[in-house]
Amino acid sequence: MNKKVEMPKESMDGKVKGLFESARVKRTTEYCINHPRTSAIARCAECGLPFCNICIDRVGDQYICYACLKKKIDRAKNAEKKGAVTFKILMATSLFFLLAIMAFIQAVPNLQQAILSFLSYKFNAFYTKHTVEFWNIIIEFSKALMFFFLGYETLMMKRSIFLTGMVVSLVQFFWSLTVLLPLPSTASNFPTTLIQVVSSFLVFICIYYSKDELV
Ligand SMILES: [Zn+2]
Ligand SMILES: [Zn+2]
Repeated sequence: MNKKVEMPKESMDGKVKGLFESARVKRTTEYCINHPRTSAIARCAECGLPFCNICIDRVGDQYICYACLKKKIDRAKNAEKKGAVTFKILMATSLFFLLAIMAFIQAVPNLQQAILSFLSYKFNAFYTKHTVEFWNIIIEFSKALMFFFLGYETLMMKRSIFLTGMVVSLVQFFWSLTVLLPLPSTASNFPTTLIQVVSSFLVFICIYYSKDELV
């Protein structure tokens, strides 16, 4: 009696086992999400969805569906665009370096005198007589350093340059303009100041239009 009961139980177990087996097979047999009647050959490495051989391609050692492949290419293109040094960036960099050189040039004549006075132990006399010139050296030198730094930062396409670059170029523009306007065109620093006015204005424009390129 007992044996008779056990027999169908065993066969039932076998049946249940078989059912599970077929369920597992069914689960691993995936169909392409674009073509529900075609078996998938692989899952996309990006989105993880199953695709048939028409909808998926092998890229390197992984499968990627065409939608993800297109996204991947677009991303790479955008990154390339962002990383490239554009004409505007190069122009702004060169103009910053030019402004640095201009500031340096303006510091040089007085600097020469200051150094000479320092070397001949007459610096105190020089300072009392040329206090304004002395502080101009300091200011122009600081400006030269700042412009070199800003030029370098622009070349590196730092995002921070957008605001600082615009503010500094605008201040330099109005500063040189106030020097230039009352100055007769025959004055010795007229060309230097004119270059400063034009280049600071151009820097402002270049940086303003480089907004999307700075990262
Ligand atoms: Zn995909
Ligand atoms: Zn497909």
